[in-house]
Amino acid sequence: SVKDYQAADNALSDKVILVTGAGDGIGREAALSFARHGATVILLGRTVKKLESVYDQIVAAGGAEPAIVPLDLKGATMEHYQGLNATIMDQFGRLDGLLHNASLLGILSPFTHIEKDDWDDVMQVNVHAEFYLTQALMPALMAAPKPSLVFTSSGVGRKGRAYWGPYAVSKFATEGLMQVIADEYENTGLRCNAINPGATRTKMRSKAYPAEDPMSLKTPAEIMPTYLYLMSDDSFGTTGQSFDAQ
Ligand code: NDP
Repeated sequence: SVKDYQAADNALSDKVILVTGAGDGIGREAALSFARHGATVILLGRTVKKLESVYDQIVAAGGAEPAIVPLDLKGATMEHYQGLNATIMDQFGRLDGLLHNASLLGILSPFTHIEKDDWDDVMQVNVHAEFYLTQALMPALMAAPKPSLVFTSSGVGRKGRAYWGPYAVSKFATEGLMQVIADEYENTGLRCNAINPGATRTKMRSKAYPAEDPMSLKTPAEIMPTYLYLMSDDSFGTTGQSFDAQ
């Protein structure tokens, strides 16, 4: 199964892959893992120090020199996204993979207590930024021979759960966007899928489940097979699907 996919050492050589939220958690591990398999990674995130540390780790391991894109998706605009597409076209001539990973958890609370600012922030980062960033990067993606677009979902993006208001709704929207794009680009060579990471040992998870023992959870490294599969040419032709990484 895809969960046990074993990527060849050079599975991603010659690929340029952008990861959002690449400074921490699952995004950090995905960037390191893609680079280890030969990709040139573009590290997008809001905390430059964290991105620099991922950059250093990749270079120290002998990986291709990454690019850093400091961007807070909360305040980002269409101009940022289009500028990014132009820069990627200038430097690389294409974008082979795009992993939408950055997300806000927001506040977990009864939905009558959710305030407008909190709803708006979660929707802005988890849905609007994702939508417009994808739209703006479509020229760079379509310039790649076998482009792969990957969204990050969640269990609560498939079945709603009490107190998970904005976050759950944003993940339903993410699954929907994935399906719309997959259908719209069928037979174009662009594939578009989603991953539900499942419970994974990160800061977001411990914020959502403060009483849980983190050591009982899978690490980001343990869920990488599904990420590598979807970025490698082995998944060419697979589209419109939502995968469980665990
Ligand atoms: P983390 O909070 O550990 O990491 C998220 C990363 O995204 C951080 O690097 C963070 O930056 C970045 N980010 C957040 N907001 C913005 C923003 N406005 N602009 C730019 N970057 C931003 O989360 P996880 O690694 O746990 O989650 C990764 C993905 O997996 C998310 O989409 C999440 O919803 C999903 N997921 C995770 C699960 C889990 O158990 N961990 C389960 C199901 C889904 P910074 O470092 O600066 O905070």
